[in-house]
Amino acid sequence: MTQYILSIDQGTTSSRAILFDTQGRQIGTAQQELKLYYPHNGWVEQNPEDIWKDTQFVCRGVLQQNNIHPSHIAAIGITNQRETTVVWDRVTGQPVYNAIVWQDRRTADFCQDLKDKWHEANVQKKTGLLLDPYFSATKIKWILDNVPGAREKAKQGALAFGTIDCFLLWRLTNGKVHATDATNASRTLIYNITEQQWDDELLDLFDIPRNMLPEVKDNSGLFGTTAKDFLGVEVPVTGMAGDQQAALFGQACFAPGIVKSTYGTGCFVLAHTGDKPVFSKNRMLATVAYRLNGKTSYAIEGSIFSAGSAIQWLRDGLGIIKSASETEALAQSLTNNDGVYMVPAFTGLGAPYWSPHARGALLGLTRSTTAAHIVRAGLEAQAYQTQDLLHAMAQDAGSPIAEIRVDGGMVKNNWVCQFLADITSRPILRPAITETTALGAAYLAGLHMKAFASLDDIQKTWQCERRFEMLMPEPVRQDLYTGWQHAVQQVLT
Ligand code: ADP
Repeated sequence: MTQYILSIDQGTTSSRAILFDTQGRQIGTAQQELKLYYPHNGWVEQNPEDIWKDTQFVCRGVLQQNNIHPSHIAAIGITNQRETTVVWDRVTGQPVYNAIVWQDRRTADFCQDLKDKWHEANVQKKTGLLLDPYFSATKIKWILDNVPGAREKAKQGALAFGTIDCFLLWRLTNGKVHATDATNASRTLIYNITEQQWDDELLDLFDIPRNMLPEVKDNSGLFGTTAKDFLGVEVPVTGMAGDQQAALFGQACFAPGIVKSTYGTGCFVLAHTGDKPVFSKNRMLATVAYRLNGKTSYAIEGSIFSAGSAIQWLRDGLGIIKSASETEALAQSLTNNDGVYMVPAFTGLGAPYWSPHARGALLGLTRSTTAAHIVRAGLEAQAYQTQDLLHAMAQDAGSPIAEIRVDGGMVKNNWVCQFLADITSRPILRPAITETTALGAAYLAGLHMKAFASLDDIQKTWQCERRFEMLMPEPVRQDLYTGWQHAVQQVLT
């Protein structure tokens, strides 16, 4: 009987279910857009009931579309938008407030207050993260402080906290299991990534009762079994990881020096750093890459806020292209950038600059500048920003970066991949399956079910579709990158 693995990929803007066979081949996909709510300036929320409803809908949908009976599903893997916070009542299973999304900035003042009191160094030493509203802890505190009666109930042990993976697992098991995995826990700001446990000192700092917290499990293992009313049969959930870590796993980055870089709306670069966390001196994040059989591997992470969103702006804001796919030929039509640079700091600059007030710029314009130059500048910026992160990572990690495995919507663009290889002076590997996040969750689930015997076995399954090598002469590369560094300086405030 053919067996399949069902990956649930619950993202910020959509929920998806992707079906893989036990060789890691993609069989089908179903997707549902997810609504975001912006109740105040800087607040971003989602309805957890929508997330649950959509998850059920896409899981059932992908099976129906592909005519596969649920009894053929060997296991489920879950991957999810990270940090987004849900607090629910343990008895009724009802959330006490909307999900507060990772992008939400409502706790910025509280974070600044803690920074002013010199807490950041200790927080970074324990969690690998920085004091920022991005992470879960201050969102949990906000719910306890602002939802009437919530703190009292939490003290009595009546409330549960979870990131989206954990909330889905609770619902999938009909409230039987309250658990998360080490990667999702590592994004909460209350989890000690070296000791691999919730940290009492940080729980005090953020005023969060320990009894709200889920059990933290390895990324591959039995998390629980879905209740019968989900698919009509009970299916084990055997893999779980936050989206960027799942992508790292899906790209088979299992050794120090291998980097995965995702170019979607934003860009996330994760480098495997081995079995010890590397605490950054360059404001990058240390995080759990995966934990298998109790053994933790770590990663260093940097994020760029605007990657594909710069291309969306060229299309929707400037109107100089009709679709993203036109950019490849336009960039190709020029032999060089003629000194035109775009700094896509539309919402500030992320790592390694962390300049929230910086704004975007186009530089080097002359009367011979054309739309092609501006498009090319938007694409080039992704490579320069990647090189900025790699430079900071190499300084922190101390080990050379061997190769970069790329994914996300932008890497369909061959010109982008080649320019990345040129500017980073490293091989760029584009995989055959670019749904790496869902694939990572499937690999994790399949590892426990023995569909894959080992990481080596997964490594063999992973296939490179195309490899891009550096072709640009070094002096040209240096000139271009110097031009970018000069451009960035103009927007830093
Ligand atoms: P997300 O998962 O963040 O929604 P995707 O991984 O689906 O994003 O990537 C979509 C992004 O990729 C969009 O911002 C789009 O502008 C960009 N994109 C898609 N195709 C191309 C292309 N051929 N060249 C450059 N950018 C592209």
